[in-house]
Amino acid sequence: MGLPKITHPIFTTKLPSSGEIVRYRPFLVKEEKILLLALSGRDSDEMSLAAKQIVNNCVIDLKHDIETLPVFDIEWLFIQIRIKSVGPDCTLVLTGLQNESCDKCQLGIKSTVDLNLVECKKEESHNPKIELTEKIGIKMKYPTVQSFNRDSANVADFLYDYIIDCIECVYDDEKIYEKHDFKKEELYDFLDNLNRDQLDKIQNFFATMPECKLDVVFKCECGNSETKTIRGLSSFFE
Ligand SMILES: [Zn+2]
Repeated sequence: MGLPKITHPIFTTKLPSSGEIVRYRPFLVKEEKILLLALSGRDSDEMSLAAKQIVNNCVIDLKHDIETLPVFDIEWLFIQIRIKSVGPDCTLVLTGLQNESCDKCQLGIKSTVDLNLVECKKEESHNPKIELTEKIGIKMKYPTVQSFNRDSANVADFLYDYIIDCIECVYDDEKIYEKHDFKKEELYDFLDNLNRDQLDKIQNFFATMPECKLDVVFKCECGNSETKTIRGLSSFFE
């Protein structure tokens, strides 16, 4: 005879990328262990891997491979799961406020935020289809956790690898060129031959895509106050 099985409530939320409805359960002690381990590492890569693992455990009947989900979808799901598991309150500390006469400012000002207020929306100008010339364009896809965890030789290569990872296809007025039909060198060469303006258009895709963020006001008893936009999981859960 086995021990009685404990059932858990099920909640739903919409994926910021597609609006698709996803079901999830709160996280349990086994997932809290994963989280504690990641938090003790204080490393944003570890945090995003832990979030991916926890989301993968807690979502029910996800139609996609977790590896293909955009980072902001995973962050959004993680925050929703955290709200239902621990509660919506999260205490953040702002350090580095320049006020030498106030000890509290120097120690860091705390602010308790309601995670229900976190938003994850794209900017209005956002478009995954980028027209480079009148005839040639790129269709982009969103970065996944994997897009950030690669062994690029240097910073410039990292930027190229990151962009290439997020290219879905290139097109002109005649056909669509699938990324996997081309060698890495050919893709590097394609990027090398863009002008500043065209590269800016690509960077604008990343700058305007959805992002989990919240404006937080930090206020000290001495009157000092500062508003900071908190973005990314590692800044919410330090
Ligand atoms: Zn102060």
